[in-house]
Amino acid sequence: MTALTRRRFTAGGALALAGAVLGAPRRASAQAAPASAGPPDPALVEDLVAANRILADQNVLDGYGHVSARHDRDASRYLMSRSLAPALVTAADIMEYDLDSNPVDARGRATFIERFIHGEIYKARADVRAVVHCHSPAIIPFGVTGVPLRPLYHMSAFIWEGVPLFDIRDAAGGMTDMLVRSPALGRALAQTLDRRTVALMRGHGAVIVGPSLPVAVFRSVYLETNARLQAQAMAQSANVRYLAEEEARLAAASVAGTLGRPWELWKRKALGK
Ligand code: MN
Repeated sequence: MTALTRRRFTAGGALALAGAVLGAPRRASAQAAPASAGPPDPALVEDLVAANRILADQNVLDGYGHVSARHDRDASRYLMSRSLAPALVTAADIMEYDLDSNPVDARGRATFIERFIHGEIYKARADVRAVVHCHSPAIIPFGVTGVPLRPLYHMSAFIWEGVPLFDIRDAAGGMTDMLVRSPALGRALAQTLDRRTVALMRGHGAVIVGPSLPVAVFRSVYLETNARLQAQAMAQSANVRYLAEEEARLAAASVAGTLGRPWELWKRKALGK
C-alpha cells in the first residue's frame, strides 16, 4: 500500500466511523452546482418574504435565524434567503438549494452557515414544507435546565408530543462553536427532531417545522409565548396544570382551522399592504 492510498483509506475509515456514530448513511455532496427546479410559485416566494418579516416583527428572529420553504415544483429543492437579517428580506434575496444545501445559483451571494439544518430536515421529513431556525429568548432556558417545555395553553397544543433536546456536544463528540455548520450535524439534529414539530438546541435556540409556512410561523410565535408563560406559571406555583394529551390533540386540531386569521393579519402588517 502506498502512502497515498493508506492516507485515503484512513480518511475513509474516519468518515465511516463518524457516520456510524451519528447513525446515518454518508451522502456524497454534489461537486457542480445543482440544476434548478425552475422558478417557484410567486405566491410561495411572497409568503416566504412575509414569513421572514413576520418572525422579525414577532421577535422570534432578530438579526439572526432563518426560515425556509420547500420548493413547490420539486421536493428535492428548498428556498431560503441569502445570508441577511430577516427583516430586510425581499423576493430578490430568495435562493434555491438542493437538499445537500448547495446553492443552485449563488451569483456571489453569501449563504447561511447553518443552512444544513433545513436541507437535512427536508431529507428526513417528506411531510415538512417549512422550517424555522430561531434563537428566540424565552425558549433558551428550557434548553439548558432540563425543564421540559409543555403545552400550557391551547395556542401551543402542538408541542403535546414533547420537545426533544439536541445537544451539539453529544452530536459532535466534543467542543464546537455551537453552530450546525455541517451536513452531519444537520442530520443529527433531524434525528433528534424525529417525527415531532419542535426540537430545542442546547445553548442556542430551536428548530420548528410545519406542513406550510403559515403553520411553521404560527408554531414559532406561540412556542416563544408558551416558554415565557410557562416560566411565569412555574414561578407562581409548583403545581402547574398543563393541557392533557387529549385536550392538546383536540385544541391543536381546532386552532389549525383558524390559522388563516393571524396569518392574514401578520402578513398585512409585515408587508405593509
Ligand atoms: Mn443559529
